[in-house]
Amino acid sequence: MKTDEEIELLRENNILVSKTLAEVGRHIRPGVTTLELDRIAEEFIRSHGAVPAFLGYQGFPASLCISVNEQVVHGIPSSKCVLKEGDIVSVDCGTFMKGFVGDSAYTFAVGEVAEDVRQLMQVTKEALYKGTAQAKAGNRVGDVSAAVQAYAESYGYGVVRELEGHGLGRKMHEDPGVPNYGARGRGPLLKEGMVICIEPMINMGTKAVVFERDGWTVRTRDRKPAAHYEFAVAVRKSGPDVLTDFSIIEQTINN
Ligand code: MG
Ligand code: MG
Repeated sequence: MKTDEEIELLRENNILVSKTLAEVGRHIRPGVTTLELDRIAEEFIRSHGAVPAFLGYQGFPASLCISVNEQVVHGIPSSKCVLKEGDIVSVDCGTFMKGFVGDSAYTFAVGEVAEDVRQLMQVTKEALYKGTAQAKAGNRVGDVSAAVQAYAESYGYGVVRELEGHGLGRKMHEDPGVPNYGARGRGPLLKEGMVICIEPMINMGTKAVVFERDGWTVRTRDRKPAAHYEFAVAVRKSGPDVLTDFSIIEQTINN
């Protein structure tokens, strides 16, 4: 459980993550490499007095995880990965500032994407909102998980089992784990002042994933696309207090 002061520091971090994702989103277009996006994010984070939380985390070599199309999460930015019209790109960003961590993710379209891919993005984001609505004191983690799963599966999508959301605080991954599948009324009790990351990873096809030999990248087994959105949320008696702000991102990409 976090104090109000700690929650405000977590909010500061997650607003900086939101601004960084907006800055990255502004540069997403055909022809840009994912390594260029990583450099933009690192400079942006450092110029705001923070440190990229992913860089060096368990040996991860970059500031962002950038996962394109069939890559679900943990893609490594590369000068060889050139974005093209019709791609989708999931960008996961972390900051460390004033002793606390920010961690949020957003899936962007590169130019015009196919209608079924657009729907996958929309439904994954809505699944995040459905899960977030359950993040109130007195509920259980399973209420969040079940809401995400039910919504995604109602569209026939695959809900990734191998990776999950988590508590957030001075460390990036704290208890409890927050799966994207589960049963209502089950799992750890959500208490006032808990901060959790809810992060649906939803596949257009099979839920099965493959861990690539680079040691990081996770992709769909059938190579159909996947989407990933992530919020940091403070659990309150009155309901969820979302510490991430997607409107900052969406103002930028709609311009
Ligand atoms: Mg993340
Ligand atoms: Mg996370």
